[in-house]
Amino acid sequence: MTRRNFLKAGGMAGAVVAVSQFTWPRAYAAEATAAASFTPSWVDKAMRWAQLTLVEDDPGKFDLRFWLDYFKRTRSDAVCLSACGCVAYYPTNVPFHHRSAWLGERDVFGELVAGCRKLGMVVIARTDPHSTYDDVQAAHPDWIAMDAAGKPRRHWASPEMWVTCGLGPHNFEFMMEVKREIMSRYRVDAIFINRWDGSGLCYCEHCRKNFHAASGHELPRTTDPQDARRAYILWHQQRLFDLWRLWDAEVRKINPDSCALPNTGGGATSALDMQRSGTRYSEAAALPYPPRRMGVMAT
Ligand SMILES: [Zn+2]
Repeated sequence: MTRRNFLKAGGMAGAVVAVSQFTWPRAYAAEATAAASFTPSWVDKAMRWAQLTLVEDDPGKFDLRFWLDYFKRTRSDAVCLSACGCVAYYPTNVPFHHRSAWLGERDVFGELVAGCRKLGMVVIARTDPHSTYDDVQAAHPDWIAMDAAGKPRRHWASPEMWVTCGLGPHNFEFMMEVKREIMSRYRVDAIFINRWDGSGLCYCEHCRKNFHAASGHELPRTTDPQDARRAYILWHQQRLFDLWRLWDAEVRKINPDSCALPNTGGGATSALDMQRSGTRYSEAAALPYPPRRMGVMAT
């Protein structure tokens, strides 16, 4: 199936869904009209992308010159750099934003941004809000994802961490503040958000309340389509588009030639309607993950 045919098929499926049970208050026709103005000027400048993903102890052994030389030798002209989310690689002032324990007095992210700018590169900040630590869980238990039994969820791979709710205040408020800080300090060309769409169905107080307000249903507990599953899929998607729009508008207030780029996955299993994603964000939606042009990855 060609991409064009896929989009057509997606549009037909969307139309069927729209008339079956659910209509959402926001039609997205306006998004198509606004799409052209959503494309930052740097989009066509970047031909070869690099991505440098840090882990928490990297700041303690980080060799700035090595990486800048690497970007230069690979002739990369755009880069996606770890900034924050679970772990901040710069001296953040946002409460509960966990600084790398190895950061010390350094600003590893800022050093990288400055070095890459000197090389003339497009710079995107990489964030990942899907997990957090005990202090956040204690102070803001409603930021944590809940299982069907109402228990907060520990991280599946890092048991010292908690999984955050993707559809509540952790993303809508806390990560908004983090984005404002990054964009104000570093004026990057975009902010990329990895693992932003929740980690499975969340039964926290916000998801239960907001889903009920939007649909009149309780959150589904089975995969039976009659168990509000269809309504949930549409609500979940709408909530993500609302979040995307909010983040995007906020970073553009600070730097009009930037955008928010949530990881949409890009495949048939994406949580988002790809036709709608593509319509709204035009060129920018394809960047930078996966790179639509040649990429150099380092983790
Ligand atoms: Zn939730």
